[in-house]
Amino acid sequence: MNNLRKKLRRIWLIIKNRLWGTPVPLETIYLDELPDKLKKDVVYLIGENGYLWSAALLCPCGCQSVTQLNLLSDAKPCWRVEEHSDGTVSLAPSVWSRRGCGSHYFVRQGFIRWHN
Ligand SMILES: [Zn+2]
Repeated sequence: MNNLRKKLRRIWLIIKNRLWGTPVPLETIYLDELPDKLKKDVVYLIGENGYLWSAALLCPCGCQSVTQLNLLSDAKPCWRVEEHSDGTVSLAPSVWSRRGCGSHYFVRQGFIRWHN
């Protein structure tokens, strides 16, 4: 999807949320390096020339810790990103911040699904 379509789609999602309470998926932002300050409700995909090596997001529990996920299959642990046609992403396997707040969740089509 090109950037203008992405922006318009995002605006439409926010309008739907205001009108009908429809949940807004996490925004996907592609960058070549991780920004100093991450925004909430965004999944950052870090890479260059269509080649991604890392994903990052603020922990969805609100603890403000930055979760960084390796996408390179030659290092472990490693996550897979699935990019959907609506611009959202899914991450596999689940994310578990064992050393931090203990959050354990899945990212599915831009939505956080908490692990029980
Ligand atoms: Zn947390």
